[in-house]
Amino acid sequence: MGTHKIETQTVPDPELVNPHDAIIKITKTAICGSDLHLYDGFIPTMESGDIMGHEFMGIVEEVGKDVTNLKRGDRVVVPFTIACGNCLFCKKKLWAACDNTNPNAHLMEAAYGYSGSGLFGYSHMMGGYAGGQAQYARVPFANVGPLKIESDLPDEKVLFLSDIFPTGYQAAENAQILPGDTVAVWGCGPVGQFAIASAFMLGAGRVIAIDRLPERLALARSLGAVTVDYSENDTDVLTALKDLTGGIGPDSCIDAVGLEGHSTELQGVYDKIKTAVMLETDRPVVLRQAIQAIRKGGTVSVPGVYGGLLDKVPFGAAFGKGITMKMGQTNMHSYMKPLLERIEQNQIDPSYIISHRITLDQAPDMYKVWRDKKENVTKIVIDPW
Ligand code: NAD
Ligand code: ZN
Repeated sequence: MGTHKIETQTVPDPELVNPHDAIIKITKTAICGSDLHLYDGFIPTMESGDIMGHEFMGIVEEVGKDVTNLKRGDRVVVPFTIACGNCLFCKKKLWAACDNTNPNAHLMEAAYGYSGSGLFGYSHMMGGYAGGQAQYARVPFANVGPLKIESDLPDEKVLFLSDIFPTGYQAAENAQILPGDTVAVWGCGPVGQFAIASAFMLGAGRVIAIDRLPERLALARSLGAVTVDYSENDTDVLTALKDLTGGIGPDSCIDAVGLEGHSTELQGVYDKIKTAVMLETDRPVVLRQAIQAIRKGGTVSVPGVYGGLLDKVPFGAAFGKGITMKMGQTNMHSYMKPLLERIEQNQIDPSYIISHRITLDQAPDMYKVWRDKKENVTKIVIDPW
């Protein structure tokens, strides 16, 4: 693995390292928008031979002697963040802030000035854990993370509990939606899709979805959203949002784009910084628009990933309008079970976003398709067998 360099290789099977580990035989895994930050070389400390992937599910193959919640043969979906369940932050249910699962926290502290939990397949700075775009994975703290699936729901309906459904849901919850509210969502990728669906679940009266990709805008409309194509010549997003809200602005704005939205445009910048950690750019376009568009006293929720320093954020408007901002990595462990229940009750079938079903061998080429948003790609699921 290097910038824009991903290969499928045969490697030794993972083994139990700690007594609280489990080995999972992976039945389905996926490529995430967050993987593009690695692919584009934005997140440092990926090394040659590292295994990508943090959205996976499968069957428990083997458990360490301290694993009491799982046994061989259990079917599980695994959260992308690794949490110990015991530290100050886990006890506060801030699972993504777990203080015990990132052995390389010092690297992250040095780079970003804070450290979070370990993540699967997401650089040495975030723990160096092998990822799940593979046939097997080692899952540490197996008593805490994996959620057992006891019904016979197909993999494709539950796989996205590993990341993007909880991420979209937390984004909508963070948006502090009141019944009947108008919510604007930037980005109709997988995270945006689940943010839109969740905003309706939480009582939004209207969702305005913004993107440029026709197939993604169509999916947003299928959920009931009104859509704005920001790439149309005469479209100014801020004017469109004003027109749609009687000049007041949306009650809540959700930035489901983050830095990835600029990966193609800013390729030159990424190429230059390679392993630099502080990215200064004059265009956090979406975040800026969200703060400019929000009504006075409204809430801006940011599930999209940002790293390093950002310039030209209209903080004066944020202050003057008295807005609330909520953001961050998803506290997965709190959402997986309640969202599984919603799937079981047929409130949502998350598989609607899948556009491509591929093998591991096809994955390297599909990373490029996914990054360039070609072939009407909305979500890629990998069957590693
Ligand atoms: P994606 O790349 O599939 O989707 C991003 C979408 O944003 C695309 O459809 C793109 O066309 C659209 N977009 C780009 N520029 C835009 C603009 N100016 N205005 C409106 N739309 C624009 O990615 P995804 O899988 O949906 O993930 C979205 C973001 O969420 C990424 O930054 C990802 O890293 C992040 N994420 C965060 C968490 C978390 O824990 N907070 C978890 C998963 C993903
Ligand atoms: Zn992800």
